[in-house]
Amino acid sequence: MIRVGVLGAAGRMGRLVCGAIADDPDLELVAAINPSHGGRPAASLIELPDLGLTVSESMETLRSSNTQVAVDFTTPAAVMGNLRWLIDHEVHAVVGTTGLGQAELAKIGRLLQKAGGRSNVVVASNFAIGAVLMQRFAEEAARFFPAAEVIELHHEGKLDAPSGTARATAERVAKARSQSWEGPSTESIEGVRGGDVQGVRVHSVRLPGLVAHQEVIFGGTGQTLLIRHDSLDRTSFMPGVLLAVKAVADRPGLTLGLEALLGLHS
Ligand code: NAP
Repeated sequence: MIRVGVLGAAGRMGRLVCGAIADDPDLELVAAINPSHGGRPAASLIELPDLGLTVSESMETLRSSNTQVAVDFTTPAAVMGNLRWLIDHEVHAVVGTTGLGQAELAKIGRLLQKAGGRSNVVVASNFAIGAVLMQRFAEEAARFFPAAEVIELHHEGKLDAPSGTARATAERVAKARSQSWEGPSTESIEGVRGGDVQGVRVHSVRLPGLVAHQEVIFGGTGQTLLIRHDSLDRTSFMPGVLLAVKAVADRPGLTLGLEALLGLHS
């Protein structure tokens, strides 16, 4: 059994992660950290039978509970401090919190190197395995179909546009194709042709009722190819999180994304 702690345990993702870990026969939920919920029974977060676990406000609980792997779904402001603590205390980390840029990733690499390889980190901005495959398939298709556009569709509460996944997909398509293709750019209404990510048009739809969806449409002579992924709710991220929790101890240093864990080598 791998002993797992969850940071951000009272958040929308953290609660689901606590439940998924508690339900997995190979994992044991031994710590739930969320400063604003300290002292509450963890079972009140995840509606499972009482686990005898109390939400803690302190990272020290990870030490007293002998946590081996910590999962972070907190905030961009909290995640780097949490990671520094985990690396200092030789706890493996699985990070789902988004907003880590190149500078932060380089910093994590330096911290891991300085610590001498006693802990590992997996960072993935999208734990939905279908979304990982969608990007992979789009990259493959771009070699044969340079004409491509991305449409991402999300709930109206999403603050950023385009989504990080759409931007990353467009960048990968741009890099994989042998020739550029932007299509016509004439617009009688400004913005109607979407945004330009390295020469790939990206369109962001925001509507109530949606969760997280993306289409990559390829056009060729007399044919089109559509690759689509739908996250219908946040449970879509749990298999990827569990995969990373089980794999992180065997992945030295910093692993970015789920592809290597899924055996999808570049
Ligand atoms: P959320 O509901 O706001 O949850 C974040 C939680 O973290 C809150 O309960 C917050 O507590 C807690 N927190 C803040 N600082 C903390 C700290 N230092 N230690 C422990 N807990 C702390 O947000 P969410 O929707 O769950 O999303 C969390 C993150 O995951 C976001 O960055 C989101 O973009 C990302 N995300 C990633 C994926 C993926 O596949 N990688 C999928 C979905 C979401 P308070 O509310 O009391 O401050």
